[in-house]
Parts: sequence; structure tokens; C-alpha cells
Amino acid sequence: MIETSLIGYSRGTPGSKTFQATNPTTGENLITEYCSASQEEVGRACELAKLASLSMTALSGRDKAKFLCSLADRIDQSIENIVVIMTAETGLPEARVRAEAGRTRSQLLMFANLLEEGSWVDARIDRALPDRKPVPKPDLRAMLRPIGPVAVFCASNFPLAFSVAGGDSASAWAAGCPVIVKAHHAHPGTALLIGKLVVQSVKECGLPEGAFSLIFGSGRTIGKAIVEDQAVKAVGFTGSRSGGRALFDLASSRSEPIPVFAEMSSINPIFLLPDLGKVEMEKVAEGLHISATMGVGQFCTNPGVVFYPDNDIGASFRTAYLEKMKSSGAGVMLHKGILESYNSGIREMREHEGVEEIISGDELSEPSGCGASPCVLETKVERFLNDPELSNEIFGPSTLLVSYSQSEDILKVAKQLEGQLTVSLFGNERNLDEHENLVDILETKAGRILFNQFPTGVEVCSSIVHGGPYPATTDSRTTSVGTGAILRFARPVCYQGFPDEFLPMELKDDNPLGINRKEG
Ligand code: NAP
Repeated sequence: MIETSLIGYSRGTPGSKTFQATNPTTGENLITEYCSASQEEVGRACELAKLASLSMTALSGRDKAKFLCSLADRIDQSIENIVVIMTAETGLPEARVRAEAGRTRSQLLMFANLLEEGSWVDARIDRALPDRKPVPKPDLRAMLRPIGPVAVFCASNFPLAFSVAGGDSASAWAAGCPVIVKAHHAHPGTALLIGKLVVQSVKECGLPEGAFSLIFGSGRTIGKAIVEDQAVKAVGFTGSRSGGRALFDLASSRSEPIPVFAEMSSINPIFLLPDLGKVEMEKVAEGLHISATMGVGQFCTNPGVVFYPDNDIGASFRTAYLEKMKSSGAGVMLHKGILESYNSGIREMREHEGVEEIISGDELSEPSGCGASPCVLETKVERFLNDPELSNEIFGPSTLLVSYSQSEDILKVAKQLEGQLTVSLFGNERNLDEHENLVDILETKAGRILFNQFPTGVEVCSSIVHGGPYPATTDSRTTSVGTGAILRFARPVCYQGFPDEFLPMELKDDNPLGINRKEG
């Protein structure tokens, strides 16, 4: 069977360049072949998106909410098919697939609620003061409007929640932007199944044809062509630092540069502060083990490095954690590329001076599947501070344990850290007082700072921040999870001196939508 891209309502033409997904559990290729889109098909999808852009700007919040709810329902109704295809393409267990489908659905509904309420547009009104001296004040009204067509790259580690109808697409549609999705090579069948549901909802809800296209093909050719197309006005991406950076550089070098919202690499440091007791340390070891091995470590918030005190209490944490990690079995990674970079990351790390591999994440002997075993490496804080490569992300179930002997070491590490999605502190409230400076420094380094909690399990809500300074993302001012994600795909527009009947509903004198507005 041969499948092609979805270019608006039509299908791509079968071509000679095809690829198949592989079942990561067995190593076998799945039977469906997917054709890479041609450059012309990419051009057509972008042209349709450009056409759709104008009519989508005119959609009301209620129109867009109806579309998001319709899509959420369709995902719900297709759950059994999703389970079959996604488990085969990703090796993820059925329970995880169902949970991720639930999250995808609730993300769509979260944006629908935001649109129904309507105040997200940040309406600001400065009424005219014609008699103001020495010069009259004009009538100025501003609100957020859609940025234009958005290219979304599916994430390998969230085939639903950060792929075709995931957080990037949902927030772009909610802002009123058409979306062109580049499928991930590891789960094209899941992408196509969801893509067909999107097309049905686009038709049912009367959105323009170009509101959605799904493109198959390699990132370096087809993904590049999408980002280079002048119709595209922003990019959403989750994946490797090299991939995100390549797309950022590409978008910046266009004749019209555009923003790239790439969520890339983060080692999500954990600091165990010196005053934790033995029992607390053992509890932390238990929680850390769950967090570090969850989903075979393939979460962007996976804790990759832990700083612990070099004393008896710290030693009890180390012993308890090693015991847990030793007892963990191997798990199946999402695709060969991720497995290879996990194995090579460990190989490179253990070659570094002063680094010891305590629990071996050695490559498994069975050659077919994508099995990976947990790994624990160890070093001292002095080595960590002197070797920047020890801060590299190893995406998977590996932990670098770093012992420190002085409280000041923690501050030194914090000052030297690269940008992170999360940083977690474990201690008591007195520690927070003593280490106030530490929190100030960490604020400059991470999008989310946690106290006595683990970073995996990202709550989808208004106050979540899933972002952070580079290299965690390419734009530290935003979040890719939660309602704030919509702001990536909107830009402020000011209307000066406009008659009321030509203003958007959100800015009209009598506030017919009843939204919160800032009157100046
Ligand atoms: P990836 O290699 O960055 O790929 C993600 C998407 O970007 C794919 O569609 C890929 O196209 C495209 N792409 C990659 N490099 C590109 C380039 N130079 N130009 C244009 N497009 C490009 O990520 P992945 O496949 O998900 O996993 C690989 C590694 O990324 C992992 O081992 C891990 O280290 C890291 N990762 C990190 C996170 C995180 O949240 N921190 C999440 C996922 C992965 P193709 O389909 O052609 O590959």
C-alpha cells in the first residue's frame, strides 16, 4: 500500500522516493510505504495556506473553538485505530497511547475554552482626546492577530500531543493560523490517521482548505523547503538541538526572517541541598528513579544530572538510587536514531576524564529492536565545572551523578548552567532562605523551577511554562505547553482612528463579546 501527503483536500502524487516506518519492538518494517512530497506539492500546500490565512483571520473565536472541539471528538472516536497504528510504529504501550490521546484531546479543548472566553487577544483601548493640549490624542486600539501560516514539525517523542494535532498545531489554529505539518519519519501512519481527521473537521466546520496540510519527506529537503517558502511566517519544532538550530538558522537567513519556536535540549538538573535527612534522601532516590526511567527516559523534562552532597547522607541517596537503577530492565526506544544517539552519548561521556560508568547502559545484544538499558555515570563537581561537555544531553534513561562538598559549589554550577526547561531543588524551607541567591540565579537559567518535586509529568494549564533560555529553546520568552503557547503565533496590531463599524468585535466601543480589555 502506498500513501501520499495531504495537500489541503487533495492527495499528493505517488513518486519514487518512499519510506516505511519500523516497528521498534521487532525491528521489522511496517508494510505501508509513504511517498515523499515533491517540491511542487510543498509549494501548493504553502500557497493554499497563504490563501487560507486571510479568511482564517476573519474567523470568530467561536468558529475556531467549534473546529478544535470537533477535532477533539474525532480523536476520541478513533482511539482504537490510533492504538493499533501508534503502538506498532512507536513501541509505546497501549496505556501511554490512550493517555497521550487524552492529553491531545484536552489540549484542543483547553484552547477552545480560551477562545470562547476571548480575552486572550489582549485588547487595549486608548480613546481619543480631541481637546488634549498641546496636541489632540488619537483613538488607538490594539489586539493580537494571527501571524500567518505556521510550519509544525512533529516530535518523535510525542506522536500525538506534539505532532499533527498536538500543542503547536492547536495553538496555531487557535490564534487563527493555517498549519502545514511535516510528519516525523518514525510515525507516518499515526500522522496520516490524525491528518485525515483534521481534514474532516476542517470541512465540517467550514474552515478554508489551506487551514491544514500534512507533508511527508525528509527534514533536510522537504522540511527545509517548507521553512524557506515565503508564505510561511513561523515554525514550531520539538526535537534535537542540531535539528532545531538548523531550522532556526535557515529561517533567520531567509530574505524575510521568521521566528522559530524550537524546543530542543535540556538536562533538567536536580540539586539535592545539603540539609536533607537520610530518609528524605532515600525517598528522593525512589522518585528520581521513576522520573529518570519513565517512558525509557524519552521526555524533554527527563532529569539527566543530579548534584548531591559528598557526605554520609548523600551516600545513602547514591546507594538507594543505584539499587533502583540496577533493578530496572531495558525498555524499547522510539526509533533507531534515538537509540544510536543514546548509545553514542554514553560512549562519549564515559571517555571523559574523571567520569566513571557505575551502571552500564551497554548496547543490548539483540540486533533487531530498539532496546536500551538504564545507565548511571558519576563524577565530581570540580570535573563538571571544568568540562562543558559533561552538560550535554543524553536523551534516554541515563543519569550523571555529581557529588559536591561545599555549598558554594552549587552556586558555581548554577551560574555556569546552560539554559534549561526545568531545574529542581530538593531541601527544606530553611534551605530556600539560605540559598535565596541560588533561586535568583536559577530564574535566569530555566523556564520552570521546582521545589521538592520532579520535572517529568508536565501539567497542561495556564501557568505552566515549558520553555527556557537557549539551548532549551530558541526563544525564552514563550512556552510550548499551556494556554500561553498561543502567543507564539499572534502579533499585535494597532488600529488608529478607525470608525467603530470597521473595528474587530474585540475592540468595538460597546464590547459586544464582553471580554476583559485594558482601557488606557
Ligand atoms: P530530530 O532529529 O531533531 O528530528 C525532528 C524533526 O526535525 C524531524 O522531522 C526531522 O526530519 C527534522 N530535522 C532534523 N534535522 C533537520 C535539519 N537539519 N533540517 C531540517 N529538518 C531537520 O529529532 P528526533 O528524530 O526526534 O530525535 C533525535 C534526537 O533528538 C534524540 O536522540 C534526542 O537527542 C533529541 N530529542 C530531544 C528532545 C527533547 O525534547 N529534548 C525530543 C526529541 C528528540 P526527518 O524526519 O528527516 O528526521
